[in-house]
Amino acid sequence: MAGYGGKLLRVDLSQGQISQEPIPEEVKLAFVGGRGIGIKYLYDELAPGTDPLGPGNKLILLNGPLAGTNAQSVSRWMVITKSPLTGAYARSVAGADFGAWLKFAGYDLIILEGQAARPIYLHIGREGAELRDAGELWGKNTQETQEWLSRRHGPLTRSACIGPAGERLVRFAAIVSARRTASRCGVGAVMGAKRLKAVAITTQRHLELAVPEAFQALVREQIGYNKADLGYQNSHEMGTTGASAHFNRLGIFPVRNFRAGQMKGAEEFSGEEYRKLRVGEFGCYSCSARCGKHHRVLAGPYAGAESEGPEYESIWAFTGPIDSANLGATVAADQLCDDLGMDTISTGNAIGFAFELFEKGIITEKDTDGLKLRYGNHAAMVALAHKIGRREGLGDVLAEGVARAAEHIGHGASAYAMHAKGLELPAYEPRAAKAHGLNYATSNIGGSHCFGYATQEIFGVPVPRPVDRFADTGKGDIAAFNQNRTALTEMGIVCTFAAGWRWFGQLYHRMLTAATGIPEFGDRAYLAAAAERLYNLERCFNVREGFSRAQDTLPQRMLTEPLEQPGGPAHGQVVRAQDALLDEYYAARGWTTAGIPKAEKLRELGLEGILGNLKQAPRAR
Ligand code: SF4
Repeated sequence: MAGYGGKLLRVDLSQGQISQEPIPEEVKLAFVGGRGIGIKYLYDELAPGTDPLGPGNKLILLNGPLAGTNAQSVSRWMVITKSPLTGAYARSVAGADFGAWLKFAGYDLIILEGQAARPIYLHIGREGAELRDAGELWGKNTQETQEWLSRRHGPLTRSACIGPAGERLVRFAAIVSARRTASRCGVGAVMGAKRLKAVAITTQRHLELAVPEAFQALVREQIGYNKADLGYQNSHEMGTTGASAHFNRLGIFPVRNFRAGQMKGAEEFSGEEYRKLRVGEFGCYSCSARCGKHHRVLAGPYAGAESEGPEYESIWAFTGPIDSANLGATVAADQLCDDLGMDTISTGNAIGFAFELFEKGIITEKDTDGLKLRYGNHAAMVALAHKIGRREGLGDVLAEGVARAAEHIGHGASAYAMHAKGLELPAYEPRAAKAHGLNYATSNIGGSHCFGYATQEIFGVPVPRPVDRFADTGKGDIAAFNQNRTALTEMGIVCTFAAGWRWFGQLYHRMLTAATGIPEFGDRAYLAAAAERLYNLERCFNVREGFSRAQDTLPQRMLTEPLEQPGGPAHGQVVRAQDALLDEYYAARGWTTAGIPKAEKLRELGLEGILGNLKQAPRAR
């Protein structure tokens, strides 16, 4: 079938065995690609109750049916597994070239299972796939690792690897390709537990499309749309560095561990200030937006630090939680996370948690090896990030994620752990955008902004209808709509930014059909049903792991403490009606009030085959 790579590569790391399998046509038809096919395999193959860091877990790397084409912004790739942070389903998305390279090598997905006895890496080249010794690579950072692999296998090599954080099983470790990261949910720790340092692919461009002329005409149309699109132009000009000012004005920028929603001095880390440090740009495969802005610090204590980023989430992660705006420190912490292979969101959130515990006297300098975790102390922030990546001292505790760290520390620390289902909350204050918060509470992966972004509340987009972001109720259908829409784009796998541009609604379905030759994909309703199917299957995965309504919640702070923001637009906001929001949401989804998909909903989606095995396993985290 054109568009697809056509094969699945299965690697048993315990036995050192590698095999190939075709992907059944009916799986492609029902799940389209990307995240859809990923959850289908994870659900079918993973036994409930599997230890995420044990040999039984499976790590799935995959692309989408548009990857490797010259269409814009559609060559992203994804990791699907069971999360060591949440114990739930995990999906994490990344950019750069790796997704296209996987397609050129002839694969739609790689399933990595078992656990190697010693550090190894997987190389896929002209001669086939083989496991190689990674003794020389173990301990190297992500950039050194990729450089080593390119030297060894040549310039046509692209790789995805872990750094020291993944090797040390930091529960929010990332998988890194170039400087783009599959960062959420601890996918890098799963790779580290398998003692797999990297997957490297050496290949040349090779791709078959079902109707190449039609596809090229659609690409020309897409480029035309982009030229006139303000969202595209903003991404091209500024990346997301300009977002902080907007979100701060809205009172949505979390400060001091989600106590306040606005930060004084936000102009110090505006897009214009970042532009002064810009030394280059970076884009994913076939994306002219090139939203990655490369920054270098020229003076001060962080002179020499440089990173491809920070983008908005990382700018927040290393400013708001410690209430300090030092561009040099932010770039240095961002670089550190990329090099060590760690999620910047979880790292910044964990640091903010530690700063509040220090302020409250729950931890002291004895616990921090002398670091003074006082607001504004950006040097302590960078030092603590380093300790987390190396699992040193307090960093070893925080490397477990804030939920586990709070249990370990005790003395009421759980009240200050800002997470949903164990995944640290990102850079949007849920009290100031309650459909966005409902997405955090109900998302299949936990507290993620990218799983059901509420554009209605944050950018005022009136689709499918306008939404008052402060309203206590009337958000259930919106959260489900946003989550299903993201699932739709991630069957592609289309970049989350580009999916918000005008071309998407007009061309996505037509591109899928022209690439694969599958006429059904040209029908928007067919794709929407496939997206809802995959979302429900992810939920069923979590139900089988013991998740239900009780885990669909936000930190107590969001439900009881008014947001501090004197004079700001969101001052005093609280999520007052969490139960009503959940009832609305489950009704919109066709789930029971316990948050379990009903039999008729599963039948409607063609998932009746799983009805018999939806029994809940005891939750083990
Ligand atoms: S807009 Fe940015 S993140 Fe999205 S595909 Fe393009 S370069 Fe990658």
